Amino acid sequence: MNAKSESAAVAQRYPRSQQGPALEIYTLRDLEQGRIAPLAAVSRDLRDAMSVVAHVLPFRVNRYVVEELIDWEKVPDDPLFQLVFPQPGMLDPGDFAAVADLLAGDAPPAELRRRVEGIRLALNPHPAGQLELNIPRGQQGEPLTGLQHKYRETVLFFPSQGQTCHSYCTFCFRWAQFIGDKSLRMATREAGTLHDYLRRHREVTDLLITGGDPMVMKTRHLADYLEPLLTPEFDHLRTLRIGTKSLSFWPYRYLTDPDADDMLRLLEKLVAGGKHVALMAHYNHWRELETEVARRAIARVRATGAVIRAQGPLLAHINDDPGVWARLWQTQVALGIVPYYMFVERDTGARRYFEVPLARCWEIYRQAVQRVSGLGRTARGPSMSAGPGKVEVQGVATIQGEKVFVLRFLQGRDPDWVQRPFFARFDPQATWLDQLRPAFGEPRFFFEAAFEAMRKPDQ
Ligand SMILES: *Cc1c(COP(=O)(O)O)cnc(C)c1O
Ligand code: SF4
Repeated sequence: MNAKSESAAVAQRYPRSQQGPALEIYTLRDLEQGRIAPLAAVSRDLRDAMSVVAHVLPFRVNRYVVEELIDWEKVPDDPLFQLVFPQPGMLDPGDFAAVADLLAGDAPPAELRRRVEGIRLALNPHPAGQLELNIPRGQQGEPLTGLQHKYRETVLFFPSQGQTCHSYCTFCFRWAQFIGDKSLRMATREAGTLHDYLRRHREVTDLLITGGDPMVMKTRHLADYLEPLLTPEFDHLRTLRIGTKSLSFWPYRYLTDPDADDMLRLLEKLVAGGKHVALMAHYNHWRELETEVARRAIARVRATGAVIRAQGPLLAHINDDPGVWARLWQTQVALGIVPYYMFVERDTGARRYFEVPLARCWEIYRQAVQRVSGLGRTARGPSMSAGPGKVEVQGVATIQGEKVFVLRFLQGRDPDWVQRPFFARFDPQATWLDQLRPAFGEPRFFFEAAFEAMRKPDQ
């Protein structure tokens, strides 16, 4: 097709109303040097504490988030402030004090670095065995970095140009890849590796491009990965998903960025080519959906025929409240977004600050679901993305006198585990699968022996 007339058609269908702002990013240096204007109203103590934590955990925020999403009158409790600005409680008090002392005493950089690295390693940088267990192999048995293949139907792809985000979430389970530890990087820019693998694996129906945030990439890079999948040899691949928080952190990606229209055109082309195209949008709070630019971005993406599905973790200090979830789902449905997953905060990084007991997660889920109509009840969860699979807490019940969690696999490393109910002893404090014990005096969960056997050959 003639490129010029194609872009004219897109411009007509998705009129761009104005020139947009450029992405302006603030990092630790800007935090320390007082360049984030609204922080002037925050106490000196809190600013210093944020800087201490930001020496350990990644920090990055852009001006749109600072100026349009955060309600500075409510800081520090504002959920959107908590979402992006590091908080003192995110580190163990001993670790916090150690880093604070080193900074206050102008310790040599090498000493500070050693201490920080030690703290990071203790924060479980690669949860759920991501490095060892999910990397697929090529025809010669070589590991294919940048790919993950954990569940039969779906391959994850980590393009190296998409391994950052328009801001960083303080609770991110991929935090380790943002702090420059090369051993934790899993990305590739090899489109050929991806395409070869998919060509050979006809059981794969879904490709999920993930990061970081793939939408930080130039459209043409994303096109290099995705457009070749429209040829008949990839007919087994029905769904192209892109995991992103850009609709929340940087809606201008779809409105006024220089290649915003190219992005919409790409989505449209993939849809026209017969694929189901889904933006797996990460949302934590309904306030992310309230700005006019966020709504216009959503409308433009939907106009391409792509579907937006929403997922996100349940987090203390941000959204551990059924009212917040009910309003989030209602707003999503009103804007044409499909609620998809409610996750349990993973066992990594600042989990000590954000984790919510499973029993409470289920209560919040249940109460939120009760407040919305069926269209808002498409979110499954609360779900733990653990080593063996995605495990949903279905509820709490008393069976023959024993109080138990009713659990099921939504996804399993072995597809045969999916949708099999199983039971754990009730524990009001437990926050993750590895803290649960089988109910009814059973020695192990039904999947444990098989899961252990899967782990061995890779070691
Ligand atoms: C969640 C997830 C998927 C996708 O699972 P769906 O239930 O199809 O959304 C794929 N791979 C991994 C590793 C995942 O965690
Ligand atoms: S947008 Fe996603 S990958 Fe990026 S920091 Fe947030 S949770 Fe992590």
